[in-house]
Formats: sequence, C-alpha cells, structure tokens
Amino acid sequence: MNLKDHIRGVPDFPKPGILFYDISTLLRNADAWQVAMGRLASVVRAYQPDVLAGVESRGFLLAAPLALKLGCGFVMLRKRGKLPGATIGLDYDLEYGTDRIEIQADAVKPGQRVVVVDDLLATGGTMSAGISLLKHAQADVVAAIALIELTFLQGRGRLDVPFEALVQYD
Ligand code: IMP
Repeated sequence: MNLKDHIRGVPDFPKPGILFYDISTLLRNADAWQVAMGRLASVVRAYQPDVLAGVESRGFLLAAPLALKLGCGFVMLRKRGKLPGATIGLDYDLEYGTDRIEIQADAVKPGQRVVVVDDLLATGGTMSAGISLLKHAQADVVAAIALIELTFLQGRGRLDVPFEALVQYD
C-alpha cells in the first residue's frame, strides 16, 4: 500500500501559501491506519526503546498506540503550561517568534532509551527541541521517527540522532 494515497494535502492551511499534509484521512481509514502502525512499529522496534515520547498533538496519536504495541511506556512532549506538577521546558525558534516544549520533570529515568515520535518533520525545529529536552532530562535518545518528512526543508540535518520517516515529500 502507498500511504501517500491516504494523506491529503490541504492548500493554504494554516496560512496562505502553505500546503498542509493532513493525516486525518489516513487515520479514518482502518486499513491504512493498520498498515501505517505496522510499518512504524517495525522501524521503532529496531531501536529497542523503553519509552516513546510523543510530540503534541498528532504525535500522541501515533506514539501512544505504538507504545502499547511494543510494550513501551509513553510520555508527552507538550506545549507550554499543559502539564501538571513540576516540568522542565525548552524555548525554540519558529519562523516568527518562539515556542516552548515541556515534559514532566520525572517523565524519564536517566539512561532510559527513548524514541521521539511525531506525525511530520518539517524544519526539524520541534523535533530538535524535543530531543534536546529529553537529553537534558538524561534520557538516552536513540532515534526520532515521523510518519512524513518534508525533505526539501532538510530538517533531518538539524537532528543529532538517527531519523526515519515512512513517507517523503520533496
Ligand atoms: P517543524 O518544527 O518545522 O519541523 O514542524 C513540525 C511540527 O509542525 C510538527 O509537530 C507537525 O505536526 C507540525 N507541522 C508542520 N507542517 C505540517 C504539515 O504540513 N502537516 C501536519 N503537521 C505539520
């Protein structure tokens, strides 16, 4: 199955001139969803993670069921101010302005093998911030995985861990 047949490109979202790759159409198709999760599971399994870290919010949709499938824990990398209790965070640059990504201070144990999961890698800024934050929390970040990679933005060049994606657009 070609997963691209189930991913929709939405022009001019969220801003004019942006082509947004939408995985809603893949998730709502039972066969495509099964195939995508099976392929992601075989990629992620090879890194033997203890924990999967999902990036808010579509990363959660992939990382949580994958973690169940692989018998791993699941932790959330969230936007500013969403997590209860003590948190640690990292500010990172966007095209215009900055954003902040946070985890609970006790989300990972030192040395735990963590794979970071998101739906899509664009510039790599979000993934890179998530990796840095997890490393700051003393996790052993063994890989970063996305369903989709926008190769023309060369985001993987910003990552200091192995990166794999199921589908590329260039
Ligand atoms: P980056 O930080 O530039 O790599 O952007 C990646 C983040 O923005 C991910 O968390 C994605 O969910 C989101 N994102 C950027 N572009 C798209 C898109 O075309 N479709 C879905 N999500 C996107």
